[in-house]
Amino acid sequence: MDLFEYQGKQFFASYEMPVSPGEAATTVEDAVAAAERLGTPVMVKAQVHTGGRGKAGGVKFAADIDAVRTHATNILGLDIRGHIVENLWIEKASDISEEYYVSFTLDRSAKKHLGMLSAEGGVEIETVAEENPDAIAKIWVAPTEGLTEDRCRQWVLAAKLNPQVTDQTVELLLKLYEAYTDGDADLVEINPLIVTPEGRVHVLDAKVTLDGNAGFRHDLEPFDATQPRDEREAAAHAKGLQYVGLEGSVGVIANGAGLAMSTVDVVNQVGGKPANFLDIGGGANADVMAGALEVINNDPDVQSIFINIFGGITRGEEVANGIIEAMNRVDISSPIVIRLDGTNADEGRALLEPHLSDRLMMEPTMLEAAQKVVALAEGTGS
Ligand code: GDP
Ligand code: MG
Repeated sequence: MDLFEYQGKQFFASYEMPVSPGEAATTVEDAVAAAERLGTPVMVKAQVHTGGRGKAGGVKFAADIDAVRTHATNILGLDIRGHIVENLWIEKASDISEEYYVSFTLDRSAKKHLGMLSAEGGVEIETVAEENPDAIAKIWVAPTEGLTEDRCRQWVLAAKLNPQVTDQTVELLLKLYEAYTDGDADLVEINPLIVTPEGRVHVLDAKVTLDGNAGFRHDLEPFDATQPRDEREAAAHAKGLQYVGLEGSVGVIANGAGLAMSTVDVVNQVGGKPANFLDIGGGANADVMAGALEVINNDPDVQSIFINIFGGITRGEEVANGIIEAMNRVDISSPIVIRLDGTNADEGRALLEPHLSDRLMMEPTMLEAAQKVVALAEGTGS
């Protein structure tokens, strides 16, 4: 779950890290009112789930209220790498004398947390990594050991930051590590972490990804409310279906996550593009099947539908009856290709036989069904 910058800063602030005062706004007037309360100069900052906002014109310094109005007007509605700006963060502007970079994330292959710290912040860390990799000090922390103050100090020294801020930086990084582990984050990144002309270390940007699966340990409600939603996914999840929206034109329904993934693969293998991953789980009764067909039918990109069922505990007749009844309930606009195999597949196929047409087809194997359904999606089938 990706947080907006201002939510990331609120998250950091709850671990007593120094952030600037600010207010969120969704209109120009709200932005102006916020700036009046905060007092200029302020930064007007686009809140989108992507980085590089500064370069894209989404982060502006406003010396006075007129500038706030101008920048808020320009930034709201701006397209930043495909994200349209609907939210702003108005923040008291800081003076900067140095810009650092710091992050924690999980290094899966090392099975440890990876911390990265650099005196060359402000710019994209990928650029630093490419052009001057020695400028990034890395530390691997075993979750069972945690980050001790001593190791943290060595890490800060290795990064060759301004020696005057060593103590403050150590203190801040220990808090950041606590926020990262205690908050069940997958990523915390501060770029830039600044030093002010008065010598204060301060958080100026925040990128935070929280682990949604750890939600039961935290109150993620406010962050959840601002997550971008794929409408198809929201509809499918409301029906209790395991659905992931994709970009293609072949709707996929399968029972079991493994078979659903194989179905997505085989559609790709024969040159098609799946519109989704959808696992209807163990059962394939009419309710579940009708729900799945409805979700896929509402996707305007879908040109054909592949129902791929391997009966295990669920018998072929149940699956066939489920499909037949679901088709009576949902007015489906795309042709369907079925592959039915497994327990009592013959009985199931016999039930489906009288219903077959150029809208409902059946193929004996997964590969043949995939070829058929992809041809239909491309308008070269039937
Ligand atoms: P990003 O481009 O999405 O990473 O957004 P940032 O929040 O990192 O802002 C981009 C750049 O704007 C930063 O690297 C700073 O150089 C600058 N910036 C952000 N906030 C302030 C501020 O309060 N004062 C000043 N002078 N510059 C700022
Ligand atoms: Mg940044």
